Amino acid sequence: MKMRKTLPILFLALFGFMGIAFASEGVKWGYSGNLAPEHWGSLDPAFEMCAKGRNQAPIDLHGFIEAELPPLFFANSGKLRDLVNNGHTIKVNCMEGSSITVDGKTFNLLQFHFHTPSENLIDGRSLPMEAHFVHADRDGNLAVVALMFEKGEENPMIKKLWEKLPENIGETNTLDPVFAPYDLLPKNRDYYRFNGSLTTPPCTEGVRWFVIKGYATVSPEQVAKFAHLMHHPNNRPVQPVYARPILK
Ligand SMILES: [Zn+2]
Repeated sequence: MKMRKTLPILFLALFGFMGIAFASEGVKWGYSGNLAPEHWGSLDPAFEMCAKGRNQAPIDLHGFIEAELPPLFFANSGKLRDLVNNGHTIKVNCMEGSSITVDGKTFNLLQFHFHTPSENLIDGRSLPMEAHFVHADRDGNLAVVALMFEKGEENPMIKKLWEKLPENIGETNTLDPVFAPYDLLPKNRDYYRFNGSLTTPPCTEGVRWFVIKGYATVSPEQVAKFAHLMHHPNNRPVQPVYARPILK
């Protein structure tokens, strides 16, 4: 009698646990050795676009085509929720309420995260840090707004975030809702535009990329603190542009 009652519970516990383990681990990938970006495409069938894609990101933005790019409309009322160390980056999860509107669609901000050094290059120039604001519309189309940082004054919003940096992989720290996400962006939000992909596996394509022309500043100490926490550079190298236009 006792077994009959406990077996289903054991089953539930076992499979529930395994499900969580699979979901959170997935296929391992990284930035060095056997897990480095040049191997991503062969680590898992689901990652094949990393090797085969013709619209991959990041890129070296150059050879611009002049275009009448409409202003991006930013709604900035969502606050910051928490800061996660996922071992690949430091990610800031955002509450609902922040979005961009472009191409007649609204893309809601899900999270933003950081790379050091920058992933995209501007006319061949690498910057010390880059932030990616990741958005999705209601059909699941993705849009990334990229912000470049150059070395200079200490950045007050980065200061606030870095005070809560989660030291260990898998750790999450709650944030005080002092800043809204786009407070990081400069006032002038003119941008470059191209079609690209996620810069991490599975390297999904069809991502609208908007790279803000103006730079934010970050102090060398702030970059060093982030780089030290990651233990390694977390930038995918630039990918071939092929026939894609890069609009400015
Ligand atoms: Zn990114």
